[in-house]
Amino acid sequence: MSASLTIALAKGRILDETLPLLARAGIEPNDDLNTSRKLVFSTNQPDIKLVLIRSADVPTYVQYGAADIGVAGKDVLLEHGGEGLYERVDLKIAPCRLMTAGLADRPVPRGRLRVATKYPEITRRYFLQKGQQVELIKLYGSMELAPIVGLADLIVDLVDTGNTLKANGLIPLDHIMDISSRLIVNRASLKMKNQAVKDLVQKIEQAVAVR
Ligand code: AMP
Repeated sequence: MSASLTIALAKGRILDETLPLLARAGIEPNDDLNTSRKLVFSTNQPDIKLVLIRSADVPTYVQYGAADIGVAGKDVLLEHGGEGLYERVDLKIAPCRLMTAGLADRPVPRGRLRVATKYPEITRRYFLQKGQQVELIKLYGSMELAPIVGLADLIVDLVDTGNTLKANGLIPLDHIMDISSRLIVNRASLKMKNQAVKDLVQKIEQAVAVR
């Protein structure tokens, strides 16, 4: 009998693009994850279950072994720090760019800038490496509002089409990094459940390759 595995996923863009990959790897949930209120889902594979959590919590569940495997954006992984887990596969899904952005009709002021973001750790490192002192303002969403109401000079956020920035009178400025979703594995699970984890990682790698 093979070891049982728990996979942590988050609702939204990542889930929508991960489910087809899992299906191609032969894993299909027994319920509709998008409409169900459940948090734990069995699958057609008796030894594989899925848990549905907030995207920023996925690395934490995998770090502590509450999930053996997870799917998380590179943004979320960098912000978490990656302790206790391995990044195994670039799933090449939910691609976007992490960027700074500011108001289109106002030049970025001189001096110490206020930067609003959901990613204080990445943002701190980015400006440190540029040798620029900034004041960080941690927000949990709707970053685009911060420059409009004078809460911040700049924001650091994910940009895909650029439509959200544009709709709020903002323009993308500096490209910090490209982002995509990654398959992560708990370090202990990789040792203790080596065969089961290796088999699953390999199937998902194949699913990514044929996409
Ligand atoms: P867009 O208007 O297409 O540039 O998308 C920007 C909005 O979607 C922002 O609120 C971003 O935080 C969010 N977003 C863009 N790409 C992603 C992604 N890959 N994962 C999660 N959120 C994203």
